[in-house]
Amino acid sequence: SEIATMMNIPVTDIISACMSLGMMVTMNQRLDAETLTIVAEEFDYTLDFVGAEVEEAIEEHKDTEEELEQRAPVITIMGHVDHGKTSLLDFIREENVIAGESGGITQHIGAYGVELKNGQKIAFLDTPGHEAFTAMRARGGQVADIVVIVIAADDDVMPQTKEAISHAQAAGVPIVFAINKIDKPSANPDKVKEQLSAMNLLVEDWGGKIQSHNISAKTGEGIDELLEKVLLEAEMLDLKANPNKHAVGTVVEALLDKGRGYVSTILVQEGTLKIGDFMLAGKHSGKIKAMFDERGNSMKEAGPSTPVSILGLDGAPQAGDKFHIFEDEKEAKQIASKRSQLQREQSVRTQRHITLDEIGRRIALGEFKELNIILKGDVDGSVEALTDSFQKLSTDEIQVNIIHKGVGAITESDVLLASASEAIIVGFNVRPSGNARTLADNEEIDIRTYSIIYDAINDLRDAMEGMLSAEI
Ligand code: GDP
Repeated sequence: SEIATMMNIPVTDIISACMSLGMMVTMNQRLDAETLTIVAEEFDYTLDFVGAEVEEAIEEHKDTEEELEQRAPVITIMGHVDHGKTSLLDFIREENVIAGESGGITQHIGAYGVELKNGQKIAFLDTPGHEAFTAMRARGGQVADIVVIVIAADDDVMPQTKEAISHAQAAGVPIVFAINKIDKPSANPDKVKEQLSAMNLLVEDWGGKIQSHNISAKTGEGIDELLEKVLLEAEMLDLKANPNKHAVGTVVEALLDKGRGYVSTILVQEGTLKIGDFMLAGKHSGKIKAMFDERGNSMKEAGPSTPVSILGLDGAPQAGDKFHIFEDEKEAKQIASKRSQLQREQSVRTQRHITLDEIGRRIALGEFKELNIILKGDVDGSVEALTDSFQKLSTDEIQVNIIHKGVGAITESDVLLASASEAIIVGFNVRPSGNARTLADNEEIDIRTYSIIYDAINDLRDAMEGMLSAEI
């Protein structure tokens, strides 16, 4: 279907062409380079495999079942501002300092590991907010296994809470709710649970499947139990990795330190990272000179689910970039520079994201099954009305999903979610903020704003029927 889109011909024609070559293929099947070349020739196209040899040079070891070992879960904490994310992280970090290490200088490196009293480990990503989470996902770097969403029990389920929930759901990551501030006299955890249930999110003690625990990040009440629930959730995920190979993982954060040069915080996801390894991370490479945990202790190696900050890369990779280790430093360097070059060239000619005009064409090509929409409006009533109307446009061939909806301006967070989830953004009587507009332009995200419900529904229906005229 990808090549059908590129050549602008129906996917069924590609399937027929393959059949005439004696191959039975499906729409989502990956074809090898030779087949692609022959098929393209059938339609008078010649193919140029840009950058393929670059990515193919990265050898990934295929793990066997025997090589896999249990690994610690990677957790992200999200929630509305002031509901207690930082307090919860700080409490967990201080309570679970590995013996003998207290008093060390704690630096913010974006991620850290804790060891609980029972010896179990958890890695925390301390990147602020769901924006960072989704920005990483948009770059292909999904790292969190579980999302803990903090909700203050003396407050309501707030817009940012809803956003965090949508972002976690869109990523397919299980949620554990931490209902915080229960030490406060005004705390009403049941009200929070009721509001969640109204959003179709049923927590355990309301007969649902989502874990939740009442905590106080101030007194520490309930935090051990919360972590137990997180570990239980992790157990169900059966998280494993092979520690005995070159490390593979994701960049969490990177910065230029005046004294030390480029410092990158990375999460090792598979294999073991060692000092002296040659690393390729996004468009940068280098020999690992030193590794530290967030207390500044130097480390010699780091296995799966271990966050470390490293020195040695020749630049700052982006959050969400994958990293790999090479035997040969030169090879890592070459790939890094080819990637920079390719990125410059490709940004000129590719359009990565879906637009409303593009939808009709892709549906006509038979390669579009789901239409993801992020819906923002000025009042709840219009958001609900549009949600209903949009969902009713679903047909047997195409399902309309409202992956996030809310009241308020279109934010950067909405654009990031759209980018990570191949969604379009519809605004009703609201506009994007300046930053969101700039980001949408960069990410090539389609934002449609309307002030008449009827127009919004009509446009979407027309797009789905492949009739949207070019000037809209
Ligand atoms: P964040 O914006 O989500 O990171 O929230 P913070 O952790 O900065 O907390 C916001 C405010 O709520 C701070 O003044 C905290 O001291 C307070 N706070 C956080 N957790 C609790 C709690 O469990 N009980 C009480 N009473 N206050 C809390």
